Amino acid sequence: EDDSSQPAEVPKDKLLNGLLASGFDERSCLSRYQSVLYGKSLTHKPSSYLISRLRSYEDLHKRCGPFTVSYNKTVEQLKSGKQTGPPDCNYLVWISFSGLGNRILTLASAFLYALLTNRVLLVDRGVDIADLFCEPFPEVSWLLPTDFPITAQFSSFNQKSDLSYGNMLKKNLTQTEVPPFLYLHLVHDYDDQDKLFFCDQEQDFIKKVPWLIMKTDNYFIPSLFLIPSFEQELRNLFPEKEMVFHFLGRYLFHPTNQVWGLVTRYYRAYLSKADEKIGIQIRVFDTGVGPFQHVLDQIIACTLKENLLPGINPEEHIISPPGKQNTKAVLMTSLNSGYFEKVRDMYWEHPTMTGEFIGVYQPSHEGYQQTEKQMHNVKAWAEMYLLSLTDKLVTSSWSTFGYVAQGLGGLKPWILYKPENQTAPNPPCRRAMSMEPCFHAPPFYDCKKKTGVDTGALVPHVRHCEDMSWGLKLV
Ligand code: GDP
Repeated sequence: EDDSSQPAEVPKDKLLNGLLASGFDERSCLSRYQSVLYGKSLTHKPSSYLISRLRSYEDLHKRCGPFTVSYNKTVEQLKSGKQTGPPDCNYLVWISFSGLGNRILTLASAFLYALLTNRVLLVDRGVDIADLFCEPFPEVSWLLPTDFPITAQFSSFNQKSDLSYGNMLKKNLTQTEVPPFLYLHLVHDYDDQDKLFFCDQEQDFIKKVPWLIMKTDNYFIPSLFLIPSFEQELRNLFPEKEMVFHFLGRYLFHPTNQVWGLVTRYYRAYLSKADEKIGIQIRVFDTGVGPFQHVLDQIIACTLKENLLPGINPEEHIISPPGKQNTKAVLMTSLNSGYFEKVRDMYWEHPTMTGEFIGVYQPSHEGYQQTEKQMHNVKAWAEMYLLSLTDKLVTSSWSTFGYVAQGLGGLKPWILYKPENQTAPNPPCRRAMSMEPCFHAPPFYDCKKKTGVDTGALVPHVRHCEDMSWGLKLV
């Protein structure tokens, strides 16, 4: 390392046990190799099979990615609607849709689906993708070229679109012809036909279409594990099921230098010197303006009960037990600054029972979701990443923002239950079964028997989520 702004030690394993490809220009994306300097190597080793499949995906991407001979040829066929023989390469285009946490989860889902079906993943850049993420694959971009012929239609694709897979099924069109492209509507409002995407029989048809265009706001990987034809491959890729997003996330999502600057400056200034780092991610889905007393009560009850933070002593002014007194840094994230101010003041105004010192920090309080502002999602991404660098993490129910942090960090979080009727739930939180994200809108269908089924009860590694009873997650 010749960059004097960085810690001096040489990273033990810059390539995360072979998960990352070598040969990138390090300066163009410092986070790719520096994440290990921030205390975060992988929690487990990726399988050698996963590593070899990633390397062969990279070769495929190099051969088929934007502006290669194969890409140009397949785009020509899409434009003309005429297919002259089987295409050299097949593609999956991911449409940038929904909040940033959602997008990170769907992009990982799309990539795994591409890996399983030998497709090339191309990414619609939306307004901000290129500002947020480095290129994950060597040499050839993952960004969909701006002159791609159907980009202008992306925003109008919805549940009703004629070219959606579900609607083609309804009109029996999948029997007769192979269309030049197929729109996969996997957004939470999708219907029973759209959901047949998760059936083997239907994958046979989908396989034949050279261009798949996908719009989704869900982490749909748990349901891929229920498709029999993917079973063996997934077992080989991920012998430990709860590592799926941890590995895919650390492989794909490297903050750009702008985002990395925000991450590392904050980390060095407020977090790195503490004996322990606690992350608390607050996302309130209630309507109305916070801060709410019941949410604050819940945060304090959870961190106390689970021994994440010490209680305060309101009777004494000074408590100084013998021995070294630890410091804990609490990183809070929220759209609102109210919770952070209250917790910070509590630990300033009173000593802790244990004599520990608690510093409380919150990088931003953006007020509300502002998708169009460049700096807004840069900060959101930096905050998710900072949360992932903590030692222990508390997250909010239903929030993909928290899922991303726990998955990247390899952390099994304590999940704050969703408050009902403006009261703090009791118990306030519980430890998650695994670090995997929850699939919020899974199908409940048995493709063979053609009946409804509880997809959370079919195999031991796909279960209902802690924070959403109908959701599915890998454990
Ligand atoms: P989810 O709605 O909690 O599942 O998470 P998403 O990331 O998909 O969407 C929420 C969006 O609101 C984020 O992308 C941010 O733009 C914003 N947001 C929510 N919570 C925070 C926060 O704690 N910090 C920042 N900076 N932005 C947030």
